[in-house]
Amino acid sequence: MPIAVKTCSSLGEAAAALSTDRGARFLAGGTLVMRAVNEGDLAVSTIVRATDSAFSEIRSAGARIAIGAGATMAQILAHRELDFLHPVARLIGGPAVRSAATVGGNLFAPSPYGDFAAALLALDATVSLQGGYGAREAPLEECLASRERSGGLVASVSLNRPASPGAFRFRKVSRVRPKGISVLSIAAHLPLSGGRATGARVAYGAMAPTPIRAKAVERALEGRTLDTAGIASALAVAAEGTNPATDAIASAWYRREVLAVHLRRLLLNEPER
Ligand SMILES: Cc1cc2nc3c(=O)[nH]c(=O)nc-3n(C[C@H](O)[C@H](O)[C@H](O)COP(=O)(O)OP(=O)(O)OC[C@H]3O[C@@H](n4cnc5c(N)ncnc54)[C@H](O)[C@@H]3O)c2cc1C
Repeated sequence: MPIAVKTCSSLGEAAAALSTDRGARFLAGGTLVMRAVNEGDLAVSTIVRATDSAFSEIRSAGARIAIGAGATMAQILAHRELDFLHPVARLIGGPAVRSAATVGGNLFAPSPYGDFAAALLALDATVSLQGGYGAREAPLEECLASRERSGGLVASVSLNRPASPGAFRFRKVSRVRPKGISVLSIAAHLPLSGGRATGARVAYGAMAPTPIRAKAVERALEGRTLDTAGIASALAVAAEGTNPATDAIASAWYRREVLAVHLRRLLLNEPER
C-alpha cells in the first residue's frame, strides 16, 4: 500500500495533520515507526514530519533545561550540561540507534522500551504538548498515562537539574550488555536534607504498559536514611502499582521478582554488577 509523506514547517501544522487522519503517524527518528512501516503495518497510511529546527534544540536557563522532543540520544550525549542524563542516553540501543532515536519518540515507545522516559519521570519533567490550535504544558506523568488516546504531539520536555550530582541515579537491567533491551529500568531523584530523603521521586521502565512512578516507594522513603534499615519499608512495597508484561525479554513474574533486588542496589548506591 502506498504511504503518503507530509512535511510540515511548523509543529502546529504537523499536529493538525495528525488530528485529522487516523492513519497518520508522526515520524521523529523513525527507529520504531519505520520498522513498523517496513514490516507492513497497514494501520499507517501517512507519515507526518516536521522541519522546524526548534524541535531539536536544547536550551538551558539557570537550573531549568528545555529539551526539544526531536533531540536525539546522540545530541544528549554531546551536551555537557546534560551530563546527569548521559548514563541513561548511553544505554539506549547502539550508536546507530542513538544517532536517530529521539527524546520525544522514547515517550511513545511501547514497553519494554522507554528507559529515557523513566529517567525524565523521576526528574519530574513537564512536556509542552502541541495541538492543532495551540500548545499547553502538562506533567510528563499525565502525558504518559494518556498517550494511547491523546494523539498529542510533544514539542519539548522541561526539567530541573538534579539537586546535586549524586542525587540522580539510573539502572537498566538487561540480559545483554550494554545494548540489550530492558528487563526493567529504575530511575530515582533522591534529594537529601540532613542525611534523610526528602521529596524522593522513583520511576520504573518496563514495569507497566508505560513508565510509571513508584509512589509507594517514594512515600516509604520520605524522611528515611538511605541505608539498609532506612530503605527496608520502601523495598517491601517495591512492586506496588506495577503491571509488567510477559514478553521475549522476561516474564512478568521475573520482573516483579527481581525489582526489589535492583531497587535495593540503586538506593544503597552499590556498584553495578
Ligand atoms: C535496535 C533497537 C534498540 C533499541 N533500544 C532501546 C533501548 O535500549 N531503550 C529504549 O528505551 N528504547 C530502545 N529502542 C526503541 C527506540 O529506538 C527508542 O525508544 C527511541 O527513543 C524512539 O524514538 P524515535 O525518534 O526513533 O521514534 P519514532 O520511531 O520516530 O516514533 C515512535 C513513536 O513515537 C511517536 N512520536 C515520536 N515523536 C513524537 C513526538 N514528539 N510527539 C508525539 N509522538 C511522537 C511516533 O509517532 C511513533 O508512534 C530501540 C529500538 C531499536 C530498533
